Amino acid sequence: MFVDLVKIRIKAGDGGNGAVSFHREKYVAAGGPDGGDGGKGGDVIFQADTNLSTLVDFNYKRKFVAENGQNGASNNCAGRSAKPLVIRVPLGTVVKEAESGRIMADLSTPEPVVLARGGKGGWGNSHFATPTRQIPRFAKPGMPGESFEVTLELKLLADVGLVGFPNVGKSTLISVVSAAKPKIANYHFTTLTPVLGVVKMGEGKSFVMADIPGLIEGASEGVGLGHEFLRHVERCRLILHVVDVSGIEGRDPKEDFLAINRELANFSEELSGRPQIVAGNKCELAAQEQIDDFARFVREQGYVFFPISAATHQGVDALIQAVSQKLDTLPPIKQFEVQELPKTPPVTADLSDFTITVEDGIYVVQAPWLVPVLGMVDPDDYESLQYLQRILRVSGIIDRLEEMGVQEGDTVSILNFEFDYMP
Ligand code: GDP
Ligand code: MG
Repeated sequence: MFVDLVKIRIKAGDGGNGAVSFHREKYVAAGGPDGGDGGKGGDVIFQADTNLSTLVDFNYKRKFVAENGQNGASNNCAGRSAKPLVIRVPLGTVVKEAESGRIMADLSTPEPVVLARGGKGGWGNSHFATPTRQIPRFAKPGMPGESFEVTLELKLLADVGLVGFPNVGKSTLISVVSAAKPKIANYHFTTLTPVLGVVKMGEGKSFVMADIPGLIEGASEGVGLGHEFLRHVERCRLILHVVDVSGIEGRDPKEDFLAINRELANFSEELSGRPQIVAGNKCELAAQEQIDDFARFVREQGYVFFPISAATHQGVDALIQAVSQKLDTLPPIKQFEVQELPKTPPVTADLSDFTITVEDGIYVVQAPWLVPVLGMVDPDDYESLQYLQRILRVSGIIDRLEEMGVQEGDTVSILNFEFDYMP
């Protein structure tokens, strides 16, 4: 079965907790803290695999959870970090966050992409010994791993997409110009799976053509078959629009031509503006006037027209040459831009929802909404720290600390961050 749209849940592993432990040895009365750090949770990684051609496996398994990091242990033993969970998908899969529709990745190269980051491990208590605090009875919990509900959408990678009504001869054409062997039959909707064919032009030059199931009217409104398959034309650099000019099926080629272009326009404006070459097929069955009349109609609208017969191969070479030459002038296959998470705290969060307590002389800040924010902060990165600072200010946390009498050099602790307060 061919499946090109699924929704799954991914969850990266949580970081392991830091340990609270004190060194014990014979004759050593009070050893120092030796609780090790927790390990990092496993990332969830996506990787395109050219051997896969459908998302069907995700119909059976919809939840992917990477392992958690191990907890730290005594004797300064750090917990083991978890291995990443690698999810293989067909080349051309676009990953979106289900809720927002934000594009998270376009797997159009074999480059692996981390889509959910594992939580950092918490620090063990050995980190927290200071001259004034020699018995730190606390450690940090691990950070939760990122978790998303995502949609996977397969958008084939092809230079040329064949579009047209069912039965106009798209599958026949691709089987003539490439080694692809799609089903060809004299009834509608024979092509239920997109088929890719490599068209070899000689001298190492080639391009990829996609045979896409026949579009039917109303397809872009989701009526029947077709709409779903338009996603496979989205990346194509050139549309090859096949029309049956013979009218052998009792159809009007002009109406068909306009109807398909309407479908493309309804699906997306971008798609309707995509360069398009028109091939009038089954010419060996048509009268010359019929062909000329249709050619005029198409050219008047600014399209390049080629009369062909996929059955007798008449005109096919000229068409393919023209397609190849046109491709030379066009930009590369479309890749979808990744949309980054907004760099501000989630608007839904109530920023005034925090508590500050003083424990052991440390100002401990707790706020549920800070958990994902801190997950994104990189303590080694200046800009990242400034971002954190801004959030602490905007939320009123800094004001509250000052009201509570925090002094320069006091320790402030937020989840697994601990820093000296500097006004
Ligand atoms: P698709 O639905 O657009 O993929 O159409 P197919 O390639 O499956 O072709 C539908 C029918 O039209 C089949 O019976 C083909 O043999 C026939 N056909 C395709 N091209 C030609 C052609 O150039 N001339 C004639 N006479 N029949 C053709
Ligand atoms: Mg077909």
